[in-house]
Amino acid sequence: MNLSSELFSKAIQVFPGGVNSPVRSFKGLHTTPKFIEKAYGYKIIDVDNINYIDFCMSFGPLILGHQHPAVKEEIISALDKGWSYGACERYSLELAEFILSKIPFIDQLRFVNSGTEAVMTAVRLARAYTGKNKIIKFNGCYHGHLDSLLVQSGSGLAGTLEASSSGVPSETIKNTPIAELDDIKSIEQIFTHYNNDIAAIIMEPLPANYGLLPQRLEFLQKVRDLCIQNDALLIFDEVISGFRVSFGGMAEFTGIRPDIITYGKIIGGGMPVGAIGASKKIMEQLAPVGNVYQAGTLSANPVAMRAGLATLKILSEVGFYENLEKITKDIVHIFSDWSQQYQGGRFNHYHFEQVSSLFWPVRKGKKDSGRIRNIKNLPISLKEDFFALFQVLLEKGIYLAPNAYEVGFVSLAHMDALTELENRLYKK
Ligand SMILES: *Cc1c(COP(=O)(O)O)cnc(C)c1O
Repeated sequence: MNLSSELFSKAIQVFPGGVNSPVRSFKGLHTTPKFIEKAYGYKIIDVDNINYIDFCMSFGPLILGHQHPAVKEEIISALDKGWSYGACERYSLELAEFILSKIPFIDQLRFVNSGTEAVMTAVRLARAYTGKNKIIKFNGCYHGHLDSLLVQSGSGLAGTLEASSSGVPSETIKNTPIAELDDIKSIEQIFTHYNNDIAAIIMEPLPANYGLLPQRLEFLQKVRDLCIQNDALLIFDEVISGFRVSFGGMAEFTGIRPDIITYGKIIGGGMPVGAIGASKKIMEQLAPVGNVYQAGTLSANPVAMRAGLATLKILSEVGFYENLEKITKDIVHIFSDWSQQYQGGRFNHYHFEQVSSLFWPVRKGKKDSGRIRNIKNLPISLKEDFFALFQVLLEKGIYLAPNAYEVGFVSLAHMDALTELENRLYKK
């Protein structure tokens, strides 16, 4: 027995399913999770001293790779000054000023500790600001684990709602009507049906939690227009796409300006940080100025703020995103070529969807008719397909997030991984 599986057998005694977040479990796979001992650059090394090229990258935050020297140096020097004050400090101010100077369409920020917290606050703000109750969510978008957004449309009657988790009261999800991605009509119907009670539409402008489902620009524009016509706010959940597809996320990339933006993942450079950004008018609804309550004992943690700033400074350098996309294209190219010929074409049904520095292996469409934009068009065999690919790659020392719906994340550190990736893929 290797050490990872030994530790896992202990972990299942003390954590439900042996994990602290369900996507880390290898549920459905034949292997137990790898316990990571350390990581640097594009590599993670497990407790059995096996190393992997890491395409999970902590599910997105590590856009520079593990232990980027500039970020590490900031964290170490931050520690010398203490690691939590519960009082005002200059580090969050520096990070906020830096972000706001580069993202001109928001005026103010509030820092929290996770993406979930950011979304929770954004939803409350939207309700308070509009005086309305309902938040339209899309099937196939994930916004963290707050009660009101753990909803999907039921499989039966069109329009029925189902909580996607037990423990969520049906009264709570009543306020979350569900629309379909790439389907304007489904949104128009909700606006008609609920007349004047829609506070906001929340969406991932680049849905990346149910596979990678890039939306048409016209669709995003129409969503923006519908919100304006109906006096509803538009919330872009940019917890993945923020600082990923461009510094200003999808809002900058598409030119479509939401009313509220949530950030997470990259913004803390691998430390737990989230943020809400909006106009001053909206943000000042928050306590202590306004009546929307929100608070956090450890919010704007000084070590995390400095890790975030060190990371974002590098992202703002000229050519960073072009360079990262080029690295990603090269990686996708290597994966694609390999998948076409491996074991006489065992994986030749695969296509590697790619947007910016994200990629997602998925079965090619029947007619090769292009991109999957809606979860109704996901292949039925998605999970089985993925498990087979995941297992083969893991044995070759290549680590994807252990779940068919998760995307692959490429970091700056992967710049040096191309040759090794090829060698690992083609090694017998
Ligand atoms: C990861 C994610 C969240 C939740 O963030 P946590 O930090 O895990 O709470 C919310 N929205 C989107 C789009 C995400 O990708």
